[in-house]
Amino acid sequence: MPRQFDVIIVGAGIAGASAAYELAKTRRVLVLERESHPGYHSSGRSAAMYVGSYGNKAIRGLSLASRPFLESPPAGFAEAPLMRPRGVLYIGGTNDEATLAAFHAEVAPSCPSMRVVGIDACMKRVPSLKPDSICGGVYDPDSFDLDADLLLQGFVRGARQAGARFVLDSEIQTIRTEGQAWEVVANNTAYAAPILVNAGGAWADEFAAQAGVRPVGLVPKRRTAVLFAAPDGVSVDTWPAVMDIHERFYFKPDAGHILASPADETPSAPMDAYPEDLDAAIAVDRVQRVAGFPVRRLQASWAGLRSFVADKTLVIGFAPDAPGFFWLAGQGGYGIQTAPTAARTARALIDGSGLPADVAALGVRARDLSPARPALSQ
Ligand SMILES: Cc1cc2nc3c(=O)[nH]c(=O)nc-3n(C[C@H](O)[C@H](O)[C@H](O)COP(=O)(O)OP(=O)(O)OC[C@H]3O[C@@H](n4cnc5c(N)ncnc54)[C@H](O)[C@@H]3O)c2cc1C
Repeated sequence: MPRQFDVIIVGAGIAGASAAYELAKTRRVLVLERESHPGYHSSGRSAAMYVGSYGNKAIRGLSLASRPFLESPPAGFAEAPLMRPRGVLYIGGTNDEATLAAFHAEVAPSCPSMRVVGIDACMKRVPSLKPDSICGGVYDPDSFDLDADLLLQGFVRGARQAGARFVLDSEIQTIRTEGQAWEVVANNTAYAAPILVNAGGAWADEFAAQAGVRPVGLVPKRRTAVLFAAPDGVSVDTWPAVMDIHERFYFKPDAGHILASPADETPSAPMDAYPEDLDAAIAVDRVQRVAGFPVRRLQASWAGLRSFVADKTLVIGFAPDAPGFFWLAGQGGYGIQTAPTAARTARALIDGSGLPADVAALGVRARDLSPARPALSQ
């Protein structure tokens, strides 16, 4: 006889853990994770930033609606702040004035503190920038460093306290429907629930196919990050994150070091991603074109997968072709900063109560997130 739950969640990254946190408030929840600890894949490899001005309109809405939770989580959720002010400076190359202005015009209505700044203001914030390599920037003060691990652990702990069960090292062998329920066998143990949440990250389409559900066209894309020592004698801690307006690189202070990325988006099979030497070298080269500090030795490099569907928006909703199969996928490069609201939205849609009012008020519509939206038909 399978062990009975109200919801089975596949995947214990930030998506699965946050969904468990929300759903365990009112349901018996089981989380199945293939790896030996939550957050082993993308969720443990992020750049740990909250950038409300990043991504398309629906993403910005999910991020902005997450900010109150991240700034002020429930009592006991985390023993230290989840966010610390950082700011982000989008910089333009020598001919990018129009691109900066267009970006500002598009995003400022939802991020009103953003402003276009000249070269001098850029240099004041990040004195190591090379003034002849930039035309200015757009500064967004409402960006933060996130403690991604504390957030993940808070979700896992809160879910467990509410009764959710996490089964790790759990490879799923079979999935089938039995009457109104999904029956999953993992490590020779059978579990059943009427609702199955697919929070499988880069594997979400593979898992759907295993369940006989039509995939959403997810493409995992590798992104690389490197860490090196800050320049001697320069205090970098007050620098904002610096992002190329065309997203060809970014760098930011990280505990006395500098974290940089070539902002690569190399399509990949779902896998335990690892950094290529070439991508690490490109990160250093692109940063050094705009910043005049030496990079002597890389102290660390890593890579993870950011998984996107065609319109680069999250997929949250019941599959149109499989009753009880719920998608929570396509988190792309925003899965950490959107997690509190994506999870709340998932719970509301599973409850059948529609989008949370604060999310709808930010211009996000259920059809923007739906797995049945036309942009995902392949
Ligand atoms: C270099 C880099 C920088 C980033 N920077 C940021 C940032 O600054 N801010 C931000 O918000 N986001 C950032 N991201 C994106 C963010 O990390 C992802 O959007 C997020 O982690 C995705 O979470 P997830 O839970 O969907 O996926 P994952 O964390 O990958 O979790 C999915 C889990 O599902 C499990 N799983 C899959 N299939 C099965 C199965 N069949 N059975 C059991 N378990 C299964 C996997 O083992 C995995 O643990 C970055 C990503 C990278 C790589």
